[in-house]
Amino acid sequence: MPFNLRLLLPIFVFTFLLSACQPAPKEYKQTLLVFGTLVNITIYDTDASKAAAMIKAISDDLNFMHEAWHPWKPGPLGRTNTLLAQTEWFSANPSVMPLITLGQQLWHDSDGLFNPAIGHLLGLWGYHQDDPPQGPPPSANEIKKWLSQNPRMSDIETKGIRVRSSNAAVKLDFGAMAKGLAVDRVIEQLKKNGIEHAIVNAGGDLKAIGRHGDRPWRIGIRHPRQDGSVLAAVEVNDSESVFTSGDYERFYTFEGKRYHHIIDPRTGYPAGQSTSVTVIHPQAAVADAAATALFVAGPEQWQDIALKMKLQYVMLVDKHGQVHITPAMAKRIDWLGNDVQLKISQP
Ligand code: AMP
Ligand code: MG
Repeated sequence: MPFNLRLLLPIFVFTFLLSACQPAPKEYKQTLLVFGTLVNITIYDTDASKAAAMIKAISDDLNFMHEAWHPWKPGPLGRTNTLLAQTEWFSANPSVMPLITLGQQLWHDSDGLFNPAIGHLLGLWGYHQDDPPQGPPPSANEIKKWLSQNPRMSDIETKGIRVRSSNAAVKLDFGAMAKGLAVDRVIEQLKKNGIEHAIVNAGGDLKAIGRHGDRPWRIGIRHPRQDGSVLAAVEVNDSESVFTSGDYERFYTFEGKRYHHIIDPRTGYPAGQSTSVTVIHPQAAVADAAATALFVAGPEQWQDIALKMKLQYVMLVDKHGQVHITPAMAKRIDWLGNDVQLKISQP
C-alpha cells in the first residue's frame, strides 16, 4: 500500500465505524385497501408510534372520502345526484362541494374532455354496479339520446352549499379526480403533523413529500401493453404527484371487442387513440383529471389541452406504442433500456 493511503486508512475506518453506529433511518410501510384500490403508504424518518398513528388517521380519512364521494351508493354524493336530477335548489353535503367547484374548473380548463357530469353515460357502459361489467355495450340509440341531453359541469350552479342543476341529465362521477383530491388531502394531513418525508401510492398514482433518505423518491410507470412490466422510471420531487390513466385499468370484452372505462364525452364511446397518459403536477387532483382529459384528447389534440391546463410534464403512449412527450418530461424520464419511439413537442 502506498504511504499516503496507509496514513488515510485510520480515517476511513473511523468514518465507517461512525456511520455504522448511527441508527439507520426508519421507514414505515403499510398497505390499505381503500378507495377501491390498494394504497401503499411509506413514511420515512419518523418514530414508530407517530407513523402508526398517522397511518390509522389516513386510513379513516380515506374511507370517509370514499363513502362521501361514491357516485351511486347512498351517501353525500349519491344524494346530491338524486337531487340534481330534480333541477331544484337544495343544500348539498359540504363534503361534496370541493369536488363540484374544482370539477367545474377542470372541466372548463380541459375543454370538457374531463367531464364528471357523465355519470349516466358511465352507467350505460356498465360502470355503475358492484360487479365488473360484461356487456353488451349500450346501443347506438342510447348513446345518441345521452349525447342530445349534453350534461356539462356548467349546468350546475352553486351558492355556498346550495346547489342546482339546470339539466336533469347531470349525474356526477368523480372517478377521474377524486383519488387525486384524496391523495392531496392525505399529504396535507401528513405535513401538518410534522411528517417531512413520505409517499402515498394509490395503485400507481402517487404524491410524495421530501426525500427517500439521501436520494429523491423514484417510481416506475407501468408499461400499458406489457402486464407487470415497467416502461420508465422517474424521480419525484418534494410535493409532486404522478398520475397515470390507462385503458388497461378497467375494461371488458364483448363479442371479441374490448371496451375500456375512459369515455370521450363528445362521442359517448371509449376514447380510442391512447393507451396511457402520465402527468406530473404539484396538485394530485389536477394531475388525475388532466391524465384522463389528455387520454381522451389523444395524440392529435393533447398539446392544446396541456397548454390550456398549463401542464409542463406530460407523457402519452398512443395505440401504436409511440410516446408523445413534453421536453421537460423527456428530460426527467429514465427509459430503463426500453426501446421507445419518442415524439417530443412543446405544447
Ligand atoms: P382515471 O383512471 O383517472 O382516468 O379515471 C377513469 C374513471 O373516470 C372512469 O372509471 C370513470 O369513472 C370516469 N371517467 C371516464 N371517462 C371520463 C371523462 N371523460 N371525464 C371524467 N371522468 C371520466
Ligand atoms: Mg384521472
